[in-house]
Amino acid sequence: MIVAEQKPLDEIQRMIAPYEKVLILGCGTCMTVCGAGGEREVSLLHSALRLAQARAGSNMHQFSEYTVKRQCDPEFIALLADRVREVDAILSLGCGIGVQVAAEHFPDTPVLPGVNTSFMGAVSELGVWDERCAACGDCRLAETAGICPITRCTKGILNGPCAGTKNGKCEANKDIDCAWILIYERLARLGQLEKMRRYYPPRNFRTIPRPRRLVNLVKADMGEEHG
Ligand code: SF4
Ligand code: SF4
Repeated sequence: MIVAEQKPLDEIQRMIAPYEKVLILGCGTCMTVCGAGGEREVSLLHSALRLAQARAGSNMHQFSEYTVKRQCDPEFIALLADRVREVDAILSLGCGIGVQVAAEHFPDTPVLPGVNTSFMGAVSELGVWDERCAACGDCRLAETAGICPITRCTKGILNGPCAGTKNGKCEANKDIDCAWILIYERLARLGQLEKMRRYYPPRNFRTIPRPRRLVNLVKADMGEEHG
């Protein structure tokens, strides 16, 4: 899932400064799970902004709040048309994708990012998220025992480990395990150590055209069938 953290309150206040009526818009999926912008965080931010405004002796802003199931889905964003008509700006607590979908859908309304979208990750313990995938578009997990060398190796190398690994830790950060030692150990456990002996040519990320698009023909056909 996508992991983000809420921007500092003073940065949010600077962003919304020019707008009187602001809709604080949460996302009920990834942002709810990672605690950056679900219904609860929308409500807390709403209170914090109102309190800050009261302390400053101002009543410049009128806030409203709402959380959609998924901000990256135009179907859910379309349901907001009436609410958006009533405001001068949207403060989105969706990830960068959600912000852009809302901006495309409401071209006359500024959409401001309330979170810093950080990475795609998994929870490792309560409240702690670790990056696990960089959406590289050419997944190598079959060769690396299900451990991503691009995100979990500090150097992102495809033929590890580098010469700096020591006692199973990364030379760049002794607090993290060397991804290639983890890969080695898991390949050994799976009886696939021959994969460590193969050479994997370097990837040329500059050849990946952007923006990328993925078409799922089955889904696309279903869309046509349902009009
Ligand atoms: S808008 Fe972003 S955070 Fe929300 S569901 Fe979509 S991808 Fe996840
Ligand atoms: S190799 Fe790593 S970054 Fe690439 S798709 Fe697989 S998990 Fe994601």
